[in-house]
Amino acid sequence: MSFTTFVTDKAGLQKFYEAVMASRETYAPVEKFGKFDFKRVARLSECDPVSPIAKTLSIKPLFFPRTAKVMKYVATSAGTDVSEVDEDPLAVKRVILGAKHCDARSLQVLDKVYNWDYIDTDYQKRRENTVIISTRCDKADTHCFCTSLDYDVENLDALDVLVVNGADGKTYLEARTAKGEALLGETFTSDAVRVTKEEAAPEMKKQYDAFAASFRLKMDYKEVNAKLAKIFDTPEFENVSGNCVSCNTCAFVCPTCHCFKISDEKVKDTGVRYKSYDSCNNGYFTLMAGGHNPRPVKYRRWRQRAMHKFVYYKERFGENLCVGCGKCTISCPVNISIFEVVSQVSAAAGNRQ
Ligand code: SF4
Ligand code: SF4
Repeated sequence: MSFTTFVTDKAGLQKFYEAVMASRETYAPVEKFGKFDFKRVARLSECDPVSPIAKTLSIKPLFFPRTAKVMKYVATSAGTDVSEVDEDPLAVKRVILGAKHCDARSLQVLDKVYNWDYIDTDYQKRRENTVIISTRCDKADTHCFCTSLDYDVENLDALDVLVVNGADGKTYLEARTAKGEALLGETFTSDAVRVTKEEAAPEMKKQYDAFAASFRLKMDYKEVNAKLAKIFDTPEFENVSGNCVSCNTCAFVCPTCHCFKISDEKVKDTGVRYKSYDSCNNGYFTLMAGGHNPRPVKYRRWRQRAMHKFVYYKERFGENLCVGCGKCTISCPVNISIFEVVSQVSAAAGNRQ
């Protein structure tokens, strides 16, 4: 299927966004206390579709909520009455506006695990009903390294509609999937002009090349994968995780981390069961009922985090469990960077071989 490309200007882009908002439930980055989180919006003035990378939380909670009610129960003299919560995971079609490319890509990575041994139908329903519009960044942030990983950022098909800032105020809108093509068709405005891929290609390529050249961080992920796969017991993990305070923030903000816990909150006879984010950096994460904990110290937990992201997930699903967004580093209270951890550990391991 061939997809359409339009060229417009800033005012035309604004009209497109407004048409999208009028036609579908729309989520976009909304600023609160200096951070941008994806919230439901009705007007463009409520959000910033090009919010700063370093201050924007991921879109993961729109697919895997931070905390969600699983069921309610009441203890009665006859036993326990259990009722399902009446929250529909997603009944209507929606659009996400302003997702970063790395965030859009993270969903392709998560699709693998959510469609594996257990099919998460809530996640699937949310995925099917969502169209993602993503503006390509013009410049990398200090902690970004998406272009060093195992996906094609320039030709990404994880997003449905690509927005690219061209020269002289021009803006390109390109459908990347059938869902994106349908949305562009429905919301096409007279301010946008259809162009061929060949006509749009030189400026879009120029923008990508400038973006790709702006990265401070670069790694050879294949080398990292190969070197980490050969080691397990190395003192390097102790060195890099020494300052970690096991707060779990890195996992909570990460668009690809997907560990969760089930917990009950009960007052007298009435309780609610929740499914909430958890993290392998938690000291109790692997604590077993009999008291044994195979990861009682933080270097083992950090080793699991790094190996899961750059070895185990890759071996099982063919993808790194990291999209190079840098969110974990930006949010870490003690400045630990996954980029540095895997680079340093694999380099030290390589030196000893
Ligand atoms: S955010 Fe930093 S301190 Fe907190 S668990 Fe992650 S690495 Fe450790
Ligand atoms: S590990 Fe860090 S850089 Fe990688 S996807 Fe998660 S938050 Fe982003």
